[in-house]
Amino acid sequence: MREETHQKVKTAHLKRNAYLYIRQSTLRQVFDNSESTKRRYALRQRAVALGWPEDRIIVIDSDLGQSGASATDREGFKRLVTEVSLGRAGIVLGLEVSRLARNSTDWHRLLEICALTDTLILDEDGIYDPAHFNDRLLLGLKGTMSEAELHVLRARLQGGILNKARRGELMLRPPVGLSYDSEGKLIRDPDQQVQAALRLLFDTFRRTGSAAATVKTFKRQRLLFPRRVNTGPHKGDLVWALLGHSQVLRILHNPRYAGAFVYGMSHTRKTIDGAIKIVHVPKDEWEILIPGAHQGYIGWEDYERNLHCLRQNAQAQGQERRKSPAREGPALLQGLIVCGRCGERMTVRYHRRHARLLPEYVCQREGVEYAGPPCQRIPGAGIDEAVGELLVEAVSPLTLDIALTVQQELQRRLHEADRLRHKQVQRAQYEADVARRRYMRVDPDNRLVADSLEAEWNSKLRTLTEVQQECERQREQERQVLSEEQRSAILALANDFPALWRDPRTPDRERKRMIRLLLEDITLIRGEQITVHIRFKGGATKTLTLPIPLKSWQQWKTSPNVVEEIDRLLNRHTYRQIAKILNARAMRSGQSRVFTSRIVAGIQRRHRLTPRYDRLRNAGMLTVEETAAALSICAQRVTIWARHGLIRAHPYNDKGDCLYEPPGTDPPRKAQGVKLSRRRPAAGIVSQNIEEVQYET
Ligand SMILES: [Zn+2]
Repeated sequence: MREETHQKVKTAHLKRNAYLYIRQSTLRQVFDNSESTKRRYALRQRAVALGWPEDRIIVIDSDLGQSGASATDREGFKRLVTEVSLGRAGIVLGLEVSRLARNSTDWHRLLEICALTDTLILDEDGIYDPAHFNDRLLLGLKGTMSEAELHVLRARLQGGILNKARRGELMLRPPVGLSYDSEGKLIRDPDQQVQAALRLLFDTFRRTGSAAATVKTFKRQRLLFPRRVNTGPHKGDLVWALLGHSQVLRILHNPRYAGAFVYGMSHTRKTIDGAIKIVHVPKDEWEILIPGAHQGYIGWEDYERNLHCLRQNAQAQGQERRKSPAREGPALLQGLIVCGRCGERMTVRYHRRHARLLPEYVCQREGVEYAGPPCQRIPGAGIDEAVGELLVEAVSPLTLDIALTVQQELQRRLHEADRLRHKQVQRAQYEADVARRRYMRVDPDNRLVADSLEAEWNSKLRTLTEVQQECERQREQERQVLSEEQRSAILALANDFPALWRDPRTPDRERKRMIRLLLEDITLIRGEQITVHIRFKGGATKTLTLPIPLKSWQQWKTSPNVVEEIDRLLNRHTYRQIAKILNARAMRSGQSRVFTSRIVAGIQRRHRLTPRYDRLRNAGMLTVEETAAALSICAQRVTIWARHGLIRAHPYNDKGDCLYEPPGTDPPRKAQGVKLSRRRPAAGIVSQNIEEVQYET
């Protein structure tokens, strides 16, 4: 072995560095493991014995506390690979080297690079040259074994959990409203107030069938809802706060409130860049579902009915949403708008108007969550246009370059300051927590001590708030550093920006991309006018004031001449007749449409013109019944007489309903036996039919 070892280590190796890689996956190991410190020391000694000078042995230990299951986020391992591939390493040292990389892929990659750069590997068992087939085989096997070991460990752990879960005995953190009793059985929370709040939530949802309506009910009645703090120093505390929309949905979807034990509703999956993602599993694929396993607030049927109800609601909504395309939508500033009143991001809604989609920016997150009215809503078309114009004017390569340079310089300095401030906040938070705990521990009867501790706690809290606000305020003033890539993209854009922007063939998607490169965000405030604060990527700002656009009915308002004319015509004509007259004169409605009786009626209503019926009545016209009484005849005879011209009738609508002129001094009388057509007509009567013919020409 000794012989062989010396054969493997060449002068070329000794000229390069030795790298001692240390990885301990949990923080506990970092603190406890003095044994491994000794082993590491021994390893170092071996490298010295092989001929490497002390100062050429470089320790890489930046991955302490990181799990070895993937190379992502492990700076130390990455550094090791870099050093090896640059040919700076003569040998890599590690305790059980295969654990260098617990993931086989990383390990084999390292072996390959070692073989290419002629780098040796040393662990407690011996020294290996990955360029030799036998050594590589052995190292490969070690890696595979190590991965298998990890797998077995995990499987055993998982198996234990699953077995418990199958019996319904696995203790999972209970949602608010449920808690474990002393025997480990899940029961309703003994706090009656909590129980009542949950019951009310389920009752309200059953009654209203809508999560939003449930939130509204709680808000209207000023009721708070319990929430359990899951993280931080107050973990486990119960707090009462406004009921949120997302909270209602979570509660309705949680089968544990129906008394069911469930395991495997979601699982974690690794994404390609190593991040961990939680995937929710559909109900029929849940691993374990035991209905009726413990106490609950609703039955299983209620639970399913609630979900069905939510699905129905969502479908109605979903259909609506699908109508407006998600990304190709024309709202250029989508995702960049900040509400100037509350600071939330504003969302886009589209309104279809005459085959055009018009954007409207709405601040509604608070509104949806806590059932309030939207904070502000602002028509978007005018703003998009104004911002576009501003960009075309303002963007030139020179202005951009200067702005970017200055900004980057400032940014570098600010970043450091922010880190410090953050530390300050953490410290204040810690001190406040300590003061709180001290106060909680003291016997409340001991007033003197309790009072002074309370005062101290209060003062710490005040400090905390101040520090936090200061930190937020400062951070607000700072901006993200631009990467070199973004910078050159912005500069390139400046050259051909105006042409590209105005080109009608440029899709909205591209315009949005350009805007995102140039602008940081846009703040909108709706007052007498709309104030638009625009913040460029470089840090420059610009403020525009725009008038509030007219509402659609204002835009399409009928011209005053037409209204006046209709007012005049109403004295003598019904809606249909007026429409005919106006069309004959080639007049058009506000939306430049041909007049119909409905449009005329609409204008009469909107402009509060006196209806024709009232005009006739004001002129002293009588109803059928009044005429009949005045002439001492029956109602049918009034219409017959009117048809034959014995009395004068004025239609007040297009159904032929009429009002009648008063009979006067010489009223027609009943004359049995005389034909109606022969009888004397009232003076100056003009039949309705003739009138219509007149206006058709
Ligand atoms: Zn708002």
